[in-house]
Amino acid sequence: MVEYLFEPFLDLSNYFLEFYEYQKQLLSFIIWIFFIVFISGIIKLIQSNKTNNFEEILSFIILIIYRFSLIFLIFILFIIYTVFTPFNKIKLHPLINKINTDNYFIVDFHTHSFFSHDGIVSPEQNIIFHKKYNFNGIFFTDHNINEVNLIKKFTKKYNFYVFNGEEIQDKNNNALLILGCTTTLYLKSKNTEEIIKNVHKLGGIVIIAHWWQQKGFELEYFKKCNIDGFEVFGHTRKHLTIDDRLKLLKFCKENNFIMLNGSNWHGWGYKNDLWTLVKIENWHKYNDEFLEKKIIEFIKNKKTHKFINITLFDYSDNYYIYNNLTGFVFEPFLGIYKCLREFNIHKIISYFFWIFILFFSIKKYYKLNSRYKKTIKFIFNFLIFVIFLSFSLKFYFLWKNIYQYNKILLEISKTFLVISLFFSIVSLLLNFLKNRYYLK
Ligand SMILES: [Zn+2]
Ligand SMILES: [Zn+2]
Repeated sequence: MVEYLFEPFLDLSNYFLEFYEYQKQLLSFIIWIFFIVFISGIIKLIQSNKTNNFEEILSFIILIIYRFSLIFLIFILFIIYTVFTPFNKIKLHPLINKINTDNYFIVDFHTHSFFSHDGIVSPEQNIIFHKKYNFNGIFFTDHNINEVNLIKKFTKKYNFYVFNGEEIQDKNNNALLILGCTTTLYLKSKNTEEIIKNVHKLGGIVIIAHWWQQKGFELEYFKKCNIDGFEVFGHTRKHLTIDDRLKLLKFCKENNFIMLNGSNWHGWGYKNDLWTLVKIENWHKYNDEFLEKKIIEFIKNKKTHKFINITLFDYSDNYYIYNNLTGFVFEPFLGIYKCLREFNIHKIISYFFWIFILFFSIKKYYKLNSRYKKTIKFIFNFLIFVIFLSFSLKFYFLWKNIYQYNKILLEISKTFLVISLFFSIVSLLLNFLKNRYYLK
């Protein structure tokens, strides 16, 4: 019910979460915002009929800066909401609902928590996220640390399988997923071969994570190092292209390497679009340790037929549109289309309801006298300040408990603090200038 009520907001954040080249797509939005504000300012200036008056020109510039900063900050607020709330639309692959859940164990081989320097979710939140997407278990692969024993103590109540993992950067910055070892290994920056040898001695296995991200090393190199398998789909800064994906799949099939999906979820608000199914009959009967050993054994013995990878990634939707500039230029319009393309009766009602509210309140606002308008503006600005400030505090207190492990939560807290102060100073200053110079 709540979902139906907030359809337009969910659609919009959903659309942002599906960004493919987010810097360029965001830039397109910002340029369009600036363009519209600028044009509306020009129209106002022409209507005032005093183009050679210095004060009019100055007031015009101030008005533009004011409007642009206001819209820009609201826009940022929305992006922040999108990135930091787990309030996503869940989309499952049709196969996920169809399979026999007693015989297929659904697992994510690559996830992070705030025990990673750059992770922002607690292990509990990570489990809740994965449960929503129908997973049965996950490997925690935090950077250079394995706190799974500690994590297990806090997550028993979730009825969810938690497995041992660690992500290590080798000497050449290749990301290696160590699975099945029960403690931190302290092998960071060692040779690939040396790391793999050590892990094998301890009964674990090593998978190359997002090979397409670094790509300095050919696939043959890892074969020589005696690697156990490859991540064939996942999320990193650099996208997996069709060519790289085909190359990876071909190599793995020819050499009988295990292929796995790993979300590399750090808590930043993207959606899940990948699953790996492991064929284990009546897996419900087993506990964490037993099941972990079984999966590791399958990988060790190259039982490739036991693993099925499922992804929702649609190349046609992203790859082709954003391979040329036109896609970026018309991004906001593309966004509207993406929000509206799947329409149904709930959506239509919800959209009309919000359009009506918006239209009605704008109309009401313009009829108010200027004293009320000022009060509303003040409350609005103050609210934005409070929201950013409370975000800052929230992330600070989250960080305080795990400061030995984590860096990014403090950085986020600081950023929010700066934004909240900057916003209040800018809005006060601009308001003062606007009142002083904008003669209307
Ligand atoms: Zn990371
Ligand atoms: Zn990772």
